[in-house]
Amino acid sequence: MKIWDVSMAVEPTMPVWKGRDTKRPVFTITRDFINGEGARETNVALDMHTGTHIDAPLHFVHEGQTMDDIPLSQLIRPVKVLDFTKVSNAIEAKHLDKTTLKKGDFVLFKTRNSLEDILEGEFVFITAEAAQRLVDLGVDGVGLDALGVERDQPDHGTHHALLGAGIIVIEGLCLGQIEEGEYLMIAAPLKVVGLEAAPTRVLLTELK
Ligand SMILES: [Zn+2]
Repeated sequence: MKIWDVSMAVEPTMPVWKGRDTKRPVFTITRDFINGEGARETNVALDMHTGTHIDAPLHFVHEGQTMDDIPLSQLIRPVKVLDFTKVSNAIEAKHLDKTTLKKGDFVLFKTRNSLEDILEGEFVFITAEAAQRLVDLGVDGVGLDALGVERDQPDHGTHHALLGAGIIVIEGLCLGQIEEGEYLMIAAPLKVVGLEAAPTRVLLTELK
């Protein structure tokens, strides 16, 4: 069985949202070996939107659902990877019209974010209009290989559309090795309670 790890490595030097140092994970060794004796323990300060992570509705919906409300059946399931590496700036509604996406699909968009060093800068994002098209289609989930599904649009229309419709949003995927097609996804977020997001290990494997 082939298994692809499409998660970002979590370390202090990893790409973070807009390159902001306040978003970087901080590893603090709180106990260590002395002359080879003892043990190592590390405390990690980790923004829940670090690297590969899932956004729950509460991220943009007041009193919305939280990570622990997302059923595992939506996280371990078939997904469609679409190759959008030809898109230069943003995934637009017109691009979606050329796909076979339908109600109940969980789509992962592979873009040039997976191929170029642009995660902290002008990464490819999903426009609000495209997000609304995904809502209208009735998809269950949307994954993107950027640290955000939008680039900080003032009204956050993309987040509002997707999360407002209860669509699961995965950000920070690494899809460089993944060809367009259908896969079985295994996404396991940290079991945090009451939060709007959680770092997530996302694996893909063959569907059959
Ligand atoms: Zn997020």
